[in-house]
Amino acid sequence: MEKKEFDYIVIGGGTAGLSSALYAARGGLRTVVLEGPEPGGQALQINGLENYPGIFPPVSGYDFIDGLKRQCAEFGAEFSRDRALSIDRPGKEFKVTSDSGIYYAPAVLVATGASHRKLGVPGEEEFTGKGVSYCAVCDGPFFRNRRIVVAGGGDSAVSEALYLSSLSGDVTVVHRRSEFRAQKSLVARMEAAGIRTVTGAHITEIRGKGRVEAVVLKDSVSGKESLLETDAVFVFIGMEPRTSLVDNLAKDSAGYILAGDGMSTSVPGLFAAGDVRSKRLRQVVTAASDGAAAAFSAIEYVREFRTGESR
Ligand code: NAP
Repeated sequence: MEKKEFDYIVIGGGTAGLSSALYAARGGLRTVVLEGPEPGGQALQINGLENYPGIFPPVSGYDFIDGLKRQCAEFGAEFSRDRALSIDRPGKEFKVTSDSGIYYAPAVLVATGASHRKLGVPGEEEFTGKGVSYCAVCDGPFFRNRRIVVAGGGDSAVSEALYLSSLSGDVTVVHRRSEFRAQKSLVARMEAAGIRTVTGAHITEIRGKGRVEAVVLKDSVSGKESLLETDAVFVFIGMEPRTSLVDNLAKDSAGYILAGDGMSTSVPGLFAAGDVRSKRLRQVVTAASDGAAAAFSAIEYVREFRTGESR
């Protein structure tokens, strides 16, 4: 396998990874971003990025990522669609093995993000791609003017339901508790948009023949079951961090990587940024900020590493 040497290997081509690559490359580090086969991260699912400071009017997540990638390339960062398979440190430098090469660098950033939590009910897997979806921007247009159920009660569920309501007048949000976790302003917009809500109910099954036809709802208090007919189920019930590459790192109780202000993890030279990191606010702006801070730390770390090498 081809051996490639860099100062900084960024694993993950979402907002955190790209922002870090931008700062690192601009700061003089030979930087590569291992984007994996599906680059861009969650920002790609944003229809209009409304709350990124200084970007107004809103741009799409696609345009945001496209601009950020071009900005990185301008400063010399390299990109690869390789998927990182393992990280270890056989000598002084980290060795990242991908599906088509081996990368070496003194500093590595884990910016692998998080994946969508699943309902884990019968029918969910069977109908994924046949009515069950985790991306409104990607799959919403297939259900224009059709019946849509959205599962979840956080910011994602409510903001995605709002987007879906621009495609269909028949959107129902099903949430397991009576109170929405989402910001009040979003809930108010949801109500104003005429989106129906079913609260205090769990989806216990997704039914259909070849495609989604209904969900089974179970009342959280009475346990009574009912059937809600629908053509699609969009699931937005939170995220799970992608940490399989770094099982050995210190993590919080939910499995997110513990890293401080400088994004340093429990292993020197290994940094974590973005949604994979333990923190309260997971937004595009905090992912970008994490990435920049990680690059700043990596630049210092690599400088000391190289000084040590030349002594
Ligand atoms: P979240 O805030 O963790 O909310 C997850 C929702 O799913 C909660 O309402 C939770 O119910 C529900 N849930 C969890 N597991 C479930 C299960 N097994 N069955 C049924 N329901 C389940 O996740 P999120 O909405 O994806 O947001 C993630 C982060 O991104 C948050 O920090 C959020 O603020 C941010 N975000 C912000 C915006 C924005 O416009 N500013 C948009 C999207 C996301 P309970 O409430 O009962 O726990």
